[in-house]
Amino acid sequence: KVRVRFAPSPTGPLHIGGVRTALYNYLFAKKHNGDFILRIEDTDQNRFVEGAEQYIIDSLNWCGIPFNEGPGKDAGYGPYRQSERAHLYEEYARELIDNGNAYYAFDTTEALDNQREEHEAQGKTFIYNWHNRQKLDNSLSLSKEEVDQKIEQNIPYVIRFKTPQAETLQLIDEIRGNMEIDTSILDDKVLFKSDGMPTYHLANIVDDHLMEITHVIRGEEWLPSMALHILLYRAFNWEAPKFAHLPLILKPQGKGKLSKRDGDKMGFPVFPLEWKDPKTGEISSGYREENYLPAAVVNMLSFLGWNPGTEQEFFKLEELIEAFDISRVHKSGAKFDPEKTRWFQQHYLQLEKDENLAAQFLEILEKKGISSDLDYTTGIVGLLKERAVFVDDFWELGSYFFQAPESFDDKAVKKVWKEDTAAIIEDLIKVITQTENYTAENIQENVKSWITAGELGFGKVMQPFRLSLVGAMQGPDVFEIAARIGKNETLRRLKYAIA
Ligand code: GLU
Repeated sequence: KVRVRFAPSPTGPLHIGGVRTALYNYLFAKKHNGDFILRIEDTDQNRFVEGAEQYIIDSLNWCGIPFNEGPGKDAGYGPYRQSERAHLYEEYARELIDNGNAYYAFDTTEALDNQREEHEAQGKTFIYNWHNRQKLDNSLSLSKEEVDQKIEQNIPYVIRFKTPQAETLQLIDEIRGNMEIDTSILDDKVLFKSDGMPTYHLANIVDDHLMEITHVIRGEEWLPSMALHILLYRAFNWEAPKFAHLPLILKPQGKGKLSKRDGDKMGFPVFPLEWKDPKTGEISSGYREENYLPAAVVNMLSFLGWNPGTEQEFFKLEELIEAFDISRVHKSGAKFDPEKTRWFQQHYLQLEKDENLAAQFLEILEKKGISSDLDYTTGIVGLLKERAVFVDDFWELGSYFFQAPESFDDKAVKKVWKEDTAAIIEDLIKVITQTENYTAENIQENVKSWITAGELGFGKVMQPFRLSLVGAMQGPDVFEIAARIGKNETLRRLKYAIA
């Protein structure tokens, strides 16, 4: 059975790239009737950020890609927070020592810093591995007695992986294909730290194994760790999962990784939900708070590094599950395109039920101190929807349906308000007053026959009429507007315009 995991570290808000990783994992799992697992990788207590885990969970739920297993949803593989599994890892580190794949290292931080500096002075990088491990302070260079003594004296140590000296390792990535790597350039990475906690590498491999993960789908930044991970599986004598490394998400201009600063500069969020930094109190807006629909964000993300191989661009989540194919994920970075996100948003807004949009819009109206009812608002939403991208656009597009215009557009006034306009509006008021059964059709019929009979000229009436009701030269059919706001309100606005 396919089992995949999303394994974020709770070090801050989930970036949109992290959401994309979660989404691809989710799609792959669902496509293969598998499980999507959330594992919280919080072994680095220094980088732990309060609230980050909840933020991650809320983000997945908002996107509609909930996990099957994870914190609070144990299916027998838990706990799902590495901090709660901390007791597990040491025995695995020792297993590698026992089978000759790892060793104790007693080097002090200062000693290692010195090494680094010395190497730097010679223009070299310090790598701790086969070529110098015999000269450093570790159990491969000391006698068994010396090692035992140090441990007995409580001298702090770490456990390092013993990377093979010279081997050409074959790596297979589901997206990138075959790769070869020479193990002689790899570091003897620390697996277990002096504080009694595992490093990311050890905990990640142990947990993927114990949780029976079949496919590791993660960001490209982890590709350099793949060789070590494959070597670790081998050292444990475990079968390795399959790996797929997703392409980077690039700035809209295409150069470099997308960052929060790009979003700040260009006015788009890089987070799914609003995030308040617990230390600085700084608030960053999210797609949810900017009124994006989850379907739009999900569709946009699905195309950041993948395409279905057809012309189709609109995919709801169920359709994505159907169409998704990990082998179609791109190798090269995906340029982020904020305009495209708006385009998806416009599309998905059109698919929403008028009544749902109206209910959301009513909340916005309420905040402005305007009360209206659902039926009326639903009708207005139906009239304006085509031109809206976000729910709050309904205010920009049709505030006049809910309150009389507060001012009149200067340019429009200059253009349409002539000397004889006031007299015309006075007559129009009479026509409106006499219109019984106040529907758009009836208003239209009465107003048109009055214009024709008096040979008034259509524009001379209709433009000031619109201006009086709307305050500007925009909006749908004037008769429709008049009918919607009602007879009393129409008359009130016409009178105000000539007052
Ligand atoms: N904890 C790692 C991260 O924060 C997980 C990497 C992986 O998926 O192996 O991205």
